[in-house]
Amino acid sequence: MTLRTIVEFPHPLLKQRCEEVVDFDAELATLLNDMRETMVEAEGLGLAANQVAVGLRVFTMVVPGDGEDEVDETSEIVELCNPRIVGRRGEIRFEEGCLSFPGINEAVLRSAEVDAVFQDRDGIEHRRSFTDVAAVCIQHELDHLDGVTFLDRLSPLKRRLAQRSFKRMQDARRFDDIEDQRAAVRSAR
Ligand code: ZN
Repeated sequence: MTLRTIVEFPHPLLKQRCEEVVDFDAELATLLNDMRETMVEAEGLGLAANQVAVGLRVFTMVVPGDGEDEVDETSEIVELCNPRIVGRRGEIRFEEGCLSFPGINEAVLRSAEVDAVFQDRDGIEHRRSFTDVAAVCIQHELDHLDGVTFLDRLSPLKRRLAQRSFKRMQDARRFDDIEDQRAAVRSAR
């Protein structure tokens, strides 16, 4: 398994609709293995393929187990290929984060319970209901596959503010990286 690089906003793939999976082959299995490892390593609850620069309609997500909202040894990692939401019930407002927007958290209104139809890595179709955090996660990840990010679910004003503060954080990180590189060059002399 290989850790893949997670792309950050405003990478163009995050704004594009991903393509349906047609070949359920070894290449897809490798992608899913890598995505699982990358998601766990980054401590994310979900990871869409376009977040690792692959334009396919697949994502991995963590479904909390007995620990309810806590991610622990009872949690399960689920892989969803060509997912669709076929039923929705209730509403939930949840503070979401995103591996492509590190440092940003925003409350988004979603359905509290969803019924999803998807294929596994062998192409076998499944139907399953998800609630609470898992329901939020599935809607967040499915949005990614349609080129929509969680900030697109905010009001225009909130979105602008969040994008601006994210850009400031990105710039600060870049500045720190440059300073680190300069310090490394100085100490190498
Ligand atoms: Zn995300």
